[in-house]
Amino acid sequence: MSNHYDVIIPGGGLAGLTLSLQLKKHSPDIKILILERRKSVAPTAAHKVGESTVELGSYYLREVLGLKSYLEEHELPKHGLRFFFKSHNKADITSRVELGPRAWLPTPSHQLDRGTLENYLVEHTRSQGTEVLLDANVKDVQFGNDFHTVTYIHQGEEKTATARWVADATSRNSLLKRKLGFQKPMDHHVNAVWWRLKGVIDIDKWSNNKEWQTYLVSGLRYLSTVHFLDKGYWVWVIPLGSKNTSIGIVADPAIHPFDTIDTYEKSMEWLKVNEPLCYKMLEPETPNKMDFKILKHFAHDSGRAYDGTDRWGVTGEAGAFLDPFYSPGTDFISLSNTFLSDLILRELNGEDVQFRAEIYERTYLTLVERWIPIYRNKYNLMGNAQIMVMKIFWDWALYWSVPALLFTNNAFTDLRMLKQLFAAPDSLGQKFGKLHERMQQLFLDWLPYENQIFENRYIDPFDLHLLRDFQANIEVQHGEKLLGKIAENVSLLEKFAAEIFRHVSAQVHGTPYDLKVNPYTMSLNEATNHDLSFVAEQDEAITRDVETMWFYSKEQLV
Ligand SMILES: Cc1cc2nc3c(=O)[nH]c(=O)nc-3n(C[C@H](O)[C@H](O)[C@H](O)COP(=O)(O)OP(=O)(O)OC[C@H]3O[C@@H](n4cnc5c(N)ncnc54)[C@H](O)[C@@H]3O)c2cc1C
Repeated sequence: MSNHYDVIIPGGGLAGLTLSLQLKKHSPDIKILILERRKSVAPTAAHKVGESTVELGSYYLREVLGLKSYLEEHELPKHGLRFFFKSHNKADITSRVELGPRAWLPTPSHQLDRGTLENYLVEHTRSQGTEVLLDANVKDVQFGNDFHTVTYIHQGEEKTATARWVADATSRNSLLKRKLGFQKPMDHHVNAVWWRLKGVIDIDKWSNNKEWQTYLVSGLRYLSTVHFLDKGYWVWVIPLGSKNTSIGIVADPAIHPFDTIDTYEKSMEWLKVNEPLCYKMLEPETPNKMDFKILKHFAHDSGRAYDGTDRWGVTGEAGAFLDPFYSPGTDFISLSNTFLSDLILRELNGEDVQFRAEIYERTYLTLVERWIPIYRNKYNLMGNAQIMVMKIFWDWALYWSVPALLFTNNAFTDLRMLKQLFAAPDSLGQKFGKLHERMQQLFLDWLPYENQIFENRYIDPFDLHLLRDFQANIEVQHGEKLLGKIAENVSLLEKFAAEIFRHVSAQVHGTPYDLKVNPYTMSLNEATNHDLSFVAEQDEAITRDVETMWFYSKEQLV
């Protein structure tokens, strides 16, 4: 049967195209059909969001899929995430606390022009034998015992094709979620609008202050994903390899109602009030506007992910999507594609993968559940530089030291490793989850006590030895010693969490600076009354790190 495939992938966006490459890499003869409803080549710049990558997703694109030379030649290198916090005069960028790396980060990442990238990926996957049909709108999937039948409209004509596996990559169109009824709302209500401007916007030129311009080498601010924050929102500025610029506003409607930003004109008015410098620098660029898009309540969960018996799976935004703060979208694509391609390849080789599929599904859904507290209710904190600096550094430490390291070390498809990490209630994975939960609660509990506006500071994540070590070592291969390394990192996180708590508790309750702290039970609401059956030791280097990101003077603590 010429229209029979091993895998049909409805949806040829980032997730579907990269899934095909991952499958081909391990099994060059695998027969894949991608059905993409876009009619022709994707436009440069004004195509999709998902332009900023972070370490896990970058490793996936560069090393797992072998796209390193394409990325280095055609997309921009990224100089980390950069944040500007509220000041008394937001029109003066030099007055705002700035958080971002000065020197190049050892573990690389990229800014992606999604149009350029997807056009390349279509050609690249075709060159490896994958069939990609454009103008092919998938209408239905009928599941069968031996193969599934996919119905689609290609250039106005209804057609069918069959495959052993169907991998849904139709994003928010959610083909399989709708068909099988596993839609699941996400209790995280934030909206976004974005637009692309023709031409380069270089934040370095937003002030003539020579001292500010020399904080880092000229040209590096431009390559960062820049965030301007205040209560309830953040604004992004992302440079694209096509020499255009992506701008977006992401806002909690409880603080910034959607109808204040849902047209370009309203967004500009909103910028005039909330980010006057952005307005001043961007408004004259209006004639260069290439598009304007809106997305209300973008977060969504998923009730299912993979089925090893019925041979289907979801990837990319056809599964769950949380929040673009910290740019994790490509990370989740990397994880789902890794789970899904492993299941498909094993099953096609004759292995019964139902048990494995259940474990992968549970792992994926647990990751989504555990990741969402990073964002939920946190837009309230965005007007507070001290809390956000602590939170951003904590969130990075967490991300670099465990999930990113597990991914680069292939642990997510190692059942023995997953069992050791997560099965027992006191396992490393469970402890990691509890620590993270405690810290996210601490940031919320701290808010009523912390309202200082700090100004004129530059803070570099690499001023903290802990963050420098975690980021620099993401790609190190640990082999059999991986579990030991994770245990070491969790122990460092315990000390980091306890030290942050000591500082916050000293400020809020006047508790001693050497307070004994159990990071698993600590609570700002019960500063002197928590369970001390486990106490995280103080560590001089970590104490110095926390002092580096603590804006109050130490005398104010004791
Ligand atoms: C505001 C916002 C900002 C974001 N910023 C970032 C970021 O900075 N970094 C990051 O990593 N991620 C970011 N993301 C997430 C990122 O956009 C997604 O992770 C990524 O685009 C999802 O890829 P995908 O392949 O699932 O979906 P898409 O790339 O949208 O691809 C889905 C494809 O399916 C096709 N399709 C749909 N239905 C059908 C059908 N019935 N038949 C055939 N084809 C169909 C569509 O045409 C489309 O091409 C952001 C998301 C939002 C909402």
